[in-house]
Amino acid sequence: MSSTVQCNNCGAMMTPQWDGRVYTCPFCKTQMQVAIGADQIAAGMAIDLANVEAFMTKLATTLSQGFTEHTQIQSNGAHVLSIEIHLDPDHFHVHREGQHAVATIKKVVRGVALRTKTVSLDLWYTQLTQALATHANTNARAAWVLGQIGTGSSGR
Ligand SMILES: [Zn+2]
Repeated sequence: MSSTVQCNNCGAMMTPQWDGRVYTCPFCKTQMQVAIGADQIAAGMAIDLANVEAFMTKLATTLSQGFTEHTQIQSNGAHVLSIEIHLDPDHFHVHREGQHAVATIKKVVRGVALRTKTVSLDLWYTQLTQALATHANTNARAAWVLGQIGTGSSGR
């Protein structure tokens, strides 16, 4: 797993800081956050679980920016019908049924689905953000996208 990060200002290789989350450019001193926690993702997306329409739209938008290769989105125009996120061994799926969202988590090991469980939307979302954080911490591009969202709306 490569952990080199290129400065988005001058293109130099950046140096990781002590916590591994922030990289600093030795040349132009640009700082970039490359790794984040589940709490930060959840706060950054600022998703309202009670509003299924907004929830699906916002989640789809975020995932299509940072996790395209792991995400399948079905939509009818701007109306998001279902979202599937593959972060092995967990496959997350959510789809609309009228005004509700039905959320399932499937365990997949070596391409074989072991079990699928239907969970509440808040549990599903908690587990999803944890899986996204784990994945983002091995993928600088994904972490960068999520980091932008996190710092953009929370002001931290
Ligand atoms: Zn630089």
